[in-house]
This record gives sequence, C-alpha cells and structure tokens, in this order.
Amino acid sequence: MIYLDHNATTPVDPRVFEAMKPYLTEKYENPSSIYRAGQDVSKAVNDARDALAGLLGARPGEVYFTSGGTESDNTAIKGVALNRGSGHIITSSIEHPAVIEVVKWLEKRGFTATYVGVDSDGIIDPEEVRDAITDETIIVSVMHANNEVGTLQPIEKIAEIAHEKGVLFHTDAVQTTGKIEIDVGAMGIDLLSLSAHKFYGPKGVGALYVRKGVKFDPCVHGGHQERGVRGGTENVAGVIGLGRAAGIAAAEMDGESVRVRKLRDKLEGGLAAGISDLRFNGHREKRMFNTASVIVKYVEGEAMLLKLDYHGIAASSGSACTSGSLDPSHVLLAMGIPAPIAHGSLRFSLGRATTEEGVDKVIEVLPPIVEELRAMSAFPRDGSEEGRACGNA
Ligand code: PLP
Repeated sequence: MIYLDHNATTPVDPRVFEAMKPYLTEKYENPSSIYRAGQDVSKAVNDARDALAGLLGARPGEVYFTSGGTESDNTAIKGVALNRGSGHIITSSIEHPAVIEVVKWLEKRGFTATYVGVDSDGIIDPEEVRDAITDETIIVSVMHANNEVGTLQPIEKIAEIAHEKGVLFHTDAVQTTGKIEIDVGAMGIDLLSLSAHKFYGPKGVGALYVRKGVKFDPCVHGGHQERGVRGGTENVAGVIGLGRAAGIAAAEMDGESVRVRKLRDKLEGGLAAGISDLRFNGHREKRMFNTASVIVKYVEGEAMLLKLDYHGIAASSGSACTSGSLDPSHVLLAMGIPAPIAHGSLRFSLGRATTEEGVDKVIEVLPPIVEELRAMSAFPRDGSEEGRACGNA
C-alpha cells in the first residue's frame, strides 16, 4: 500500500513498539503500587513525561497524560470553563470537532462563544480575535495546524493578544507535535493538546500541557493518578510509547521535514502538470510540510478515493459523503470554497512511510482516473464552480 494519510494516523515506529513491549508483558505492575516493581514502572512513566516535556520546552509537572487529542481538547476547554463557572470562549470555524463540539456543548450550558473565520488561505486574522475578546472572555482556543489543509495559524500573535487582555490561550497541536518545533514558553501557550498516534506513537494515548499556575477542573474523576487531575490507571505501555515517539521526533524532525517537503512539492507539481482545473487549498508557505490538499473540479472526492484505493493508494477527502452526509468539509466552506467544488477535494498527507516511488505512482495513476470520472460527471463545465453536490452520473 502507498500510505498517504498520515494526518489521519501514523504507523507505530518499530523503535516505539520495542520500547512498549516489556510494559505489555513482564513489566505489567501498577505504577501506583509501592513495591519496587511498581515503582520501576512509575519511574518509566515519569521518564516518558520528561521526554515529552523536553519536546515541548515544558516542565514535566506541566504534562498530564490522557487518552488522546480528543480528551486533551475536552479537558483544556471544559476544564477551564468549569473552573470559571461562566464566560465567553473564542475559537475558530476550522477547528477539529474535538474543539468545536466541546464549545457547542458549553454553549448549551450557558457559556457564550465566538467562532472567528478564516481567509481564503485558511488563516485566522489575529485582529479578529482581538475584536472578539470581551470582559467575559475566559479562553481562546485556536489550532496550530489544520488537519485538512495543513495551514499554520499565527498562534504566537493570537496568544499575545489573548494575554494582553488577561485571557488564557489553548492550542490543539495534534497535527504539529513531533513534526515541527514547539516551545510552549516562547510561543505563549497556556494549554496544548497532543496525540501520540499522529507522530508514530500508539493510538489511545496523548497529553495535555497546562502551564504551571493555570487553574482548570478535572474532566475524568477517579483516583489520584496524574496528580489527581486525570483519574484512572495509566495506559503504561501507551505512555512509554508516547515518550519514545517524542524522543525520536526531537532527534529526527528536522531531517524528516526537509525530505517530506520535497516529496510533497513533487506530488503537487506532478498533479498540477497532469490534471487540468486543479485548485490547491491552504496558504502556499504557511502550512505543514507534509500536507497537500487539492480540489479536482468536476469530480467527487470519494470516487477518486475508491479508484486510488484500487491502485493501493490510501488518501482521504475533505467531504463527508461516505458517512452518509452531503455536507462538504466545514474547513473548505469556511475558506469560501463553494460547496459543489469542495466535494472534489483530496487530502494527501505524507510522512515517514512515504517514498519517491509512491509519489510517482500517484502522479501516474491519478490523471487517468480524473479523466475517466470527468467523462461520466454531471458537473457543469462552465467554470461557474456551481454543480451538483456529491454527484457523478
Ligand atoms: N485534533 C486534531 C487537529 C486532529 O487532527 C485529531 C485527530 O484527527 C484530533 C484532535 C483527535 O485526536 P485523537 O484521535 O487522538 O482523539
């Protein structure tokens, strides 16, 4: 398989798997146990915390392990909101559902919210955040990079504006942690969500960084684990995997980003040369090095995905037709892309598994797929960018 869906998940690095294995077999003791074997496991959990803190420029005591990005986003935003009891929340219209749905849930419980928009490149204007802040605002939550189009947000500037008004800043860094450098102190981040499976760690484990002194309520109540903030026996093997993945990322991210960027640029260049009526989504420079989001006009993303799958190529689309909904991606719509053409979106997300041969294969097989689908398509070709949603004839 040619795997080009690294923004959805990544394969566990064999070095990560090796580090995890003993904690699934012989080192099974509960880290809360007082006997030596349990304490050894507890030490390993804290070594993983140190490695992750190192990746973020954080102190180990500011890192809380969770079940992944979704739980971290929930705890960050709900945790601050419930601690304050009432108030106004600012987020963006292109966040992952793990943020948007939390904010909507809080709105139903009396909190108020503003969803700032993005420009046609998918970038938030920090001044819009400034204008949205009121005396009631308690937290601003803006993602570091978008999962669909890869755009990087000016989070340092947004954090600065939030702090000028005494407001906390949270970022969902699920798509950037372990891929590009993050320094929570220098970037002014108060809370940050991350997930291991997006950077070659296992699924079902992540972390929330909370700057020392920031008050938030726990969202998972139970035992004393994670300093009483997140009850439940630790996912020890997962946490060890997350720590190892963080160490590998810290050592290798620079070289890997150069290698993958070259491949991503080759892919985009090859597709642009072989397919007419293409539109690339997201800011050309201010975006993740591994993501190529493209709209192929007059065809439907899902149809292309199925044909690519037949050739052993795994990618994804921005629309939700496969889940039975006719709604195109909320991210592309927020960028002002008309719904009918947003249905023709494809996302290729590259990573450690990507080779030049894989990229060449996509460049070779996609143009004839598009030609074939366009020959059957009911989309009008008058360049109007209007057409039938989710429909090939
Ligand atoms: N936030 C972003 C930006 C994501 O891309 C994802 C995963 O797709 C999540 C949050 C959720 O992370 P997890 O799968 O670890 O719950």
